[in-house]
Amino acid sequence: MEPRAHVPVRTCLVCGKKSAKFALLRVALSPVERTVVLDRKQRLEGRGAYICQGCLPNLRYTKRVQRAFRNEAKGLAESLGR
Ligand SMILES: [Zn+2]
Repeated sequence: MEPRAHVPVRTCLVCGKKSAKFALLRVALSPVERTVVLDRKQRLEGRGAYICQGCLPNLRYTKRVQRAFRNEAKGLAESLGR
């Protein structure tokens, strides 16, 4: 193992498990609506959060989500299904 091959780790917003950043999906706030959207291209500006692929269907607009976005999120985007 190469000791300097540091893998950035992020915590899933839904289940709280830590995984390698590249294995997680990024969610961010849409610039206009300020709703939580899937950042498929990992390019949206600003605060983002990470969730496991398997947790995506379980994503709800919880306190934890609100806190992750410092209460700036107005809800989940319709594209996330709720
Ligand atoms: Zn998860």
